[in-house]
Amino acid sequence: MDKFAEAVANKFLTLMNQGVAPWRQSWNSQCALPANFSTGKFYQGMNVWALMLAGMERGFMSPLWGTYKQLKAAGYQVREKEKGTTIHWFGYSEREQKDGSVKRISSHKIFTLHNLCQCNVIETGLPWAPSEPTKDWNIEKAEQVVSKYLTATSMKVVHGVPAYFPGLDHISMPTKSEFQTVENYYSTMFHEIAHSTGHGSRLDRDLNPLAKDVHSYSVEELSAEFTAGMLCAATGVSNQNTDESSAAYLKHWAAKLSEDPKILQTAIKNAQKAFEFVMGV
Ligand SMILES: [Zn+2]
Repeated sequence: MDKFAEAVANKFLTLMNQGVAPWRQSWNSQCALPANFSTGKFYQGMNVWALMLAGMERGFMSPLWGTYKQLKAAGYQVREKEKGTTIHWFGYSEREQKDGSVKRISSHKIFTLHNLCQCNVIETGLPWAPSEPTKDWNIEKAEQVVSKYLTATSMKVVHGVPAYFPGLDHISMPTKSEFQTVENYYSTMFHEIAHSTGHGSRLDRDLNPLAKDVHSYSVEELSAEFTAGMLCAATGVSNQNTDESSAAYLKHWAAKLSEDPKILQTAIKNAQKAFEFVMGV
């Protein structure tokens, strides 16, 4: 595992040992999934979690980030002594060869980002402040994501305990009114939707653990947890107070992750793909 992934994994473990599930939070700003402040594009993979954990650790109230230069050009001055957060970018650059052909070369860049909360607005000299979210914007957003996905996949939803049945390719869910809060309903629905993205006709993940035990301590389960966490963060739905975030549950996961840290990388990778699939249907 590379050093960056290792550092993220260690932060996960520290929080989990303190009884905090980093993927279960009360997302308190308009859109809590880390995004670039100027393009609005979400960061991806391990970077999502590196930024989210940095934000949690330092109490940032904004999911928006940028490089020092980008921020300055847009009228934001990073305050003195504010520490940046590193992200890694993996992609391809194209290089022209002597014979005129173009070769794709894998490329790796490291960027240091600052959160908008670490900036002053140059024009006023005052700290940047997030705007107040409007009422219920998050529920509307969550409903849009759910109904779009269910329609696009022709997913059948039957009444029952929360589960996804890979063989039948259907979701079972209690009704909205059976949940303590409407946010609980959406975060649970996101979790089951996340499992359903693994069906053979979609992203084709190994869903065998679900056939034996609906919500097990498998990589698939952690992938679904992370996907739901990302969907909740992107829509602003709080997924903090559920039974599953209990201390025992986290202790078990922490033990499992320290035994095999690769699980975390696989789950993060799966979750990124599942998140993009759900948002892109
Ligand atoms: Zn599950």
